[in-house]
Amino acid sequence: MIVYGKSIDTWQHDYPLMSSLLATVPVCWRNPELVPFSEALSDISLTATDVSEASTRLQRFAPLLAELFPEVAATRGIIESELQEVPAFSAALAERYSLPWQPRLWLKKDSHLPISGSVKARGGIYEVLFHAEQLALRHRVLSLTDDYRILASDTCRDLFRRHRIAVGSTGNLGLSIGIAASGLGFETTVHMSADARQWKKDKLRSHGVNVIEYEGDYGQAVEQGRQQAEHDEHCYFIDDENSRNLFLGYAVAGERLKVQLAEKNIPVDAEHPLCVYLPCGVGGGPGGIAFGLKLAFGDHVHCFFAEPTEAPCMLMGLYTGLHEALSVADFGISNRTAADGLAVGRPSGFVGRSMARMIDGCYTVPDNELFGLLQSLDATENLQLEPSALAGAPGVARIIEAFADLPLQNATHLIWGTGGGMVPAEEMQHYLTYRG
Ligand SMILES: *Cc1c(COP(=O)(O)O)cnc(C)c1O
Repeated sequence: MIVYGKSIDTWQHDYPLMSSLLATVPVCWRNPELVPFSEALSDISLTATDVSEASTRLQRFAPLLAELFPEVAATRGIIESELQEVPAFSAALAERYSLPWQPRLWLKKDSHLPISGSVKARGGIYEVLFHAEQLALRHRVLSLTDDYRILASDTCRDLFRRHRIAVGSTGNLGLSIGIAASGLGFETTVHMSADARQWKKDKLRSHGVNVIEYEGDYGQAVEQGRQQAEHDEHCYFIDDENSRNLFLGYAVAGERLKVQLAEKNIPVDAEHPLCVYLPCGVGGGPGGIAFGLKLAFGDHVHCFFAEPTEAPCMLMGLYTGLHEALSVADFGISNRTAADGLAVGRPSGFVGRSMARMIDGCYTVPDNELFGLLQSLDATENLQLEPSALAGAPGVARIIEAFADLPLQNATHLIWGTGGGMVPAEEMQHYLTYRG
């Protein structure tokens, strides 16, 4: 069998990790292309100014969000998650993986972000707001200095009602965009892949969102959505694979985390690096966050992407340099995983190329391990996340050998908990009692 011009044997010969990847055995890949951030910055078509503009845009919208979504009234419309130390979980990880010391471990609880209960409340909602602003400015119903609560007026809502927003999703992005866009008044369609959980579809429908279901995977749902939107000039298609706006919405997390760490007097410097473990699907979320973290902490932050063993698309795209030309299915890998947020077979080329010299590495996690970690986090810290969101948890254990030259023992290790806050109790009970 020839895959991308080479036999599988040749791939395995040329790429030492390939045999384990194809056998869906967990791997850790250290990125040989990593360079100082000052150099890697030139790979990416976005700048610190773009991120700070995104941050300012979110501030302009904050009063409106506080009015439309009661759950962000307390934070005056700023959508941000808590940073929580998880020492009991750290002790459990130290035991589970026989670590030589107990890591200083924190959980970034994007799982509990308001409005949509996942990391997608960053990028997804930001892009909806970006589009709404452009539209309102273009139709002269808004100026940049207005109080943005004007966007809840009948005039503005009438404008939004005449426009459509569409997106393809494995679930959480659809949830985020659907809730935000319908909240502003847009007619919204979410194209859902077969992996998407029923409750996510039900929830969207309860918000008046059109949900179209596909038999195929995420890539096919996106493609169908893109095609339908192309024939409709009033439809804005949110393109998870290539969107700079989504990416910028995620990147704002960097400056926010910097403030949170400073408030807790947690140093980030050469002696005390920050190691961040980010679950990765198509790449926009972890890529945008990693970019924001690099802007905030430079070379003192080390970012790692985590994927299911059955869907290691970003790792393989970076490792082979094939990026979006690669689909894990072509290598015989199933893309079937209970980590529905990470069930992506083809990585974003935009993110892969932007991150190629910026991230330290990638590793993979099998589903049964995700469930074990999910149950352990529940037992030790009484925190309930969805399977995808646990991919960051084994990070320290995965990198400890390949990154022995980093001062890992003095490092602050941060698991990005990407989702789970809105999982219905019954579904969560199923996760908590699952035996793989
Ligand atoms: C979407 C998602 C991710 C990964 O984000 P990508 O932008 O697809 O890489 C991780 N965890 C959860 C829970 C998600 O929903």
